[in-house]
Amino acid sequence: MSDCDDCLFCRIIAGEIPSGKVYEDETTYAFNDINPKAKVHVLVVPKKHYANVAELAAGDPARLAHMVEVAQGIADDAFHGDYRLVFNTGADAGQTVFHVHAHVMTGETLDE
Ligand code: C5P
Repeated sequence: MSDCDDCLFCRIIAGEIPSGKVYEDETTYAFNDINPKAKVHVLVVPKKHYANVAELAAGDPARLAHMVEVAQGIADDAFHGDYRLVFNTGADAGQTVFHVHAHVMTGETLDE
């Protein structure tokens, strides 16, 4: 079984599990987090499966840079371009889904 056979976010990207899509292009998908921690809380994910941001940075840095562009666009639309970008990396850092995803938090002034 490949990582993708058992990956929640691969299944969301494939449309097998519903999500609140906010953006999609050839390489990247973004959807509203089901448990938002900010007024706007979007997850930006590459369609290709990488377990975490370190794997993505090593394997395809251009795709990582594109994820940041997508995050910026979401924040430009939601909150004059200001946003928090978080990649939880590893279980002890709070990563629960092992398909790299950027948490984009915006839409309001955030606490520190
Ligand atoms: O960084 P971490 O792996 O903990 O983030 C996973 C995120 O995926 C959580 O914020 C959770 O709310 C979100 N999630 C989601 N839709 C699902 C399952 C999890 O938005 N169906």
